[in-house]
Amino acid sequence: MLNNRIITFILVISIVCCSFVVFASERNTITTADQILKELYQKYITLKTGKNADYIPELAKVNPNYFGIAIVTVDGKIYSIGDVNVPFAIESISKPFVYALALQDNGEQFITDKIGLNATGHRFNSVPAIEEKPDHLQNPLVNAGAIQITSTIKGKTSADKWQRVLNLMQQLSDGKPFLGDAVYQSEMTTNQHNRAIAELLESYKMMHGNPLDAVDRYTKACSVMVTAKQLALMGATFANGGINPLTHQSIISRGYVRDALSIMVVNGLYENSGAWWWKVGLPAKSGVGGGIVAIIPAKMAIVVFSPPLDEAGNSVRGQAVIEEISHQWKLHLLS
Ligand code: GLN
Repeated sequence: MLNNRIITFILVISIVCCSFVVFASERNTITTADQILKELYQKYITLKTGKNADYIPELAKVNPNYFGIAIVTVDGKIYSIGDVNVPFAIESISKPFVYALALQDNGEQFITDKIGLNATGHRFNSVPAIEEKPDHLQNPLVNAGAIQITSTIKGKTSADKWQRVLNLMQQLSDGKPFLGDAVYQSEMTTNQHNRAIAELLESYKMMHGNPLDAVDRYTKACSVMVTAKQLALMGATFANGGINPLTHQSIISRGYVRDALSIMVVNGLYENSGAWWWKVGLPAKSGVGGGIVAIIPAKMAIVVFSPPLDEAGNSVRGQAVIEEISHQWKLHLLS
């Protein structure tokens, strides 16, 4: 009898202690992550170099002081600071996601043969990069490859094809990314360069369907508005092997996510991709809207939104913050 009481007492005490340890360590992680984000935010808010993209007039108008950092983990936890609920144009960060959809629609072989897999070492909208290679192949993360990718998305009409791209971005996130009409109009009136790229590719028989129609849908994809938190959720879905951590829906198959992450290593930051991999060691993608997402497979996605860009078109603060997080948390995938 007495023995039973003692055993029950010990059991109750153990359960209370265990719960306390779990609770305390959970609290500790949260406090630590929040604290680190706060310190990074305060440190990098003073970094004022770079300038908004201005070849798309609407992007030049965005407040250059916006600064937000958001992290979403594969189990759906969200840590954030700053302007993380401000919608901004996703721009080139749409490319790895649309690439994954194209792989799902057409298979790896077709897409790889037609689009290419190697770094260009050139600017994201380079024409010489297309011309200098005898086979003209680029990769899915520069404008030429992404316009081609867009031309392969399946659908009965152009509107259906576009709707599938938008649906994808919504399903990868919280259902709320939307087409930013002002950015889209602004980009459509100034995208002669992209149209020229599409026609050039068409001259090499590398486009599927009407090239200008593909440019239109490509431009819409770039004009999708996301917040840093929504983009971090899209990234976390990739980190989670294609399964949305909040809805638990499988959006993209794991193998195609791996393909997209691989190409992000190769060319996610354009001509700075080599230096980025060396320093940071994470697949990442930037956009001229000032966003940048880095993905840590099976763990989380980190997003920074800060519009001023460097010469290559990558957010200056975004790169600095993610580089520091990678060092502090020892995230380099080869370390
Ligand atoms: N829509 C932009 C363009 O086509 C995307 C470029 C980018 O984000 N690097 O130029």
